[in-house]
Amino acid sequence: MKNKYYVYELIEDNEIVYCGFTNSPPRRKAEHRCRFQFEFDMNILSEHGTKREALAEEETMTLFLKSVGLAKYNDVIGSVVTQNLKKMVAINTGKVRSEETKRKISNTLKGQKHTKIRKLNMGKGIKNQTRYTCPHCGVVGVRGNMNRWHFDNCKQREYKNV
Ligand SMILES: [Zn+2]
Repeated sequence: MKNKYYVYELIEDNEIVYCGFTNSPPRRKAEHRCRFQFEFDMNILSEHGTKREALAEEETMTLFLKSVGLAKYNDVIGSVVTQNLKKMVAINTGKVRSEETKRKISNTLKGQKHTKIRKLNMGKGIKNQTRYTCPHCGVVGVRGNMNRWHFDNCKQREYKNV
C-alpha cells in the first residue's frame, strides 16, 4: 500500500491556529488532543504522494498563515521554516515575490480556502490591525503573535546577545 501524506490545519474558535502534515490524520489528531489544551477541528487541506511534497506544502501554507497573523501555535523557531520566514519577510519588504511563490499561494488559497481566509481576515479585522516589526529578526506581525514569539521573547535576540 502506498503511503499518503496530508497537510492539515487546526481550527480553534474559527481561527486557523496550526498547520502541519502527517501520514495518519486520525493518529495525529489524537496526539494533538493530548498536547494542546484546547478544543479544535482538523481539516485536511491537501493530499500528497511524497513526504517531501507534503513538507513543502506545509511550509508554504504555514508561512502564508504566519504572514497574516494566523497559525499562532506553529513554533517556527529553530526549524528550517525560520530561515525561510526570514527570507519571505525580506522578499515581502521589498514588495517582490517570485512567480513560483505567488502561484503556490494562489493555488493553496483557491476555492474553499480562499473564502475561509477572507472571512477570517474580515471577521478579525486583520487588515486593519497595526503591524509590528521585531527589531531582532525583522518578522512582521500582529501584536498577539509578536508579543508571544518576538521582541523580548525572540530567539534571534538570544543569538545576538551571546
Ligand atoms: Zn523576532
